[in-house]
Amino acid sequence: MGWPKGVKRGPRGYRYPGAGPASIASTPVISCSLCSIPKPRSDFYKGRWCKTCHSLRTKVYREVNPDVHRKACKNYFEANEDACRERSRRGSRAYYNANKTECILKNRQWKESNKSKVKATQKVWREVHPDLVRTYNQNRRARKLNAEGSFTIEEWASLCEQHDYRCAICSELKQLTIDHIIPLARNGSNWIANIQPLCQSCNSRKGDRVIEADAFMEEVTLV
Ligand SMILES: [Zn+2]
Ligand SMILES: [Zn+2]
Repeated sequence: MGWPKGVKRGPRGYRYPGAGPASIASTPVISCSLCSIPKPRSDFYKGRWCKTCHSLRTKVYREVNPDVHRKACKNYFEANEDACRERSRRGSRAYYNANKTECILKNRQWKESNKSKVKATQKVWREVHPDLVRTYNQNRRARKLNAEGSFTIEEWASLCEQHDYRCAICSELKQLTIDHIIPLARNGSNWIANIQPLCQSCNSRKGDRVIEADAFMEEVTLV
């Protein structure tokens, strides 16, 4: 064995045409066929381009053939949808945790400059989650009135179930609203124990009765 006379020996690891099967696995240092820089085996995938050159080439190829790349991505995503979504979720969560302040700031800026988009998304969300909206609104109201306590969407859901999804006053199967048995305005708490599901009309009628009860209380105290 040996090199024929007159033929310049290439960089270590370079495979001349007809030089036989490549055995780069056993070669500790390989010269990249693009940048000619000798690098350790771990800097290569399977071929003779080092990882740096490989990614550079890939990048250029994608820029020149954007449609091919887009289509390949789409195909891959469709074939591995769950894994892709999970990976992207994990990636964004990790990024968010590592760059919290920056993310919050960027988010706020984006919302500021995309107000109509935000509004549209919120509208859809509210339509999809009416119970969550009700829970949130009542809790916020209670906080504003400095009332004690709060309740969760799960507590509200199980309360509705206990009432067979019927109004606590007229027992009719109607859309239920959150009613504070002792109104927040009369120092009632916002714990689930002070809440009952009422239909809209009973809720309004009960509202009237509170005023009646007020008058009644005044009479009682006067006597
Ligand atoms: Zn290279
Ligand atoms: Zn009712």
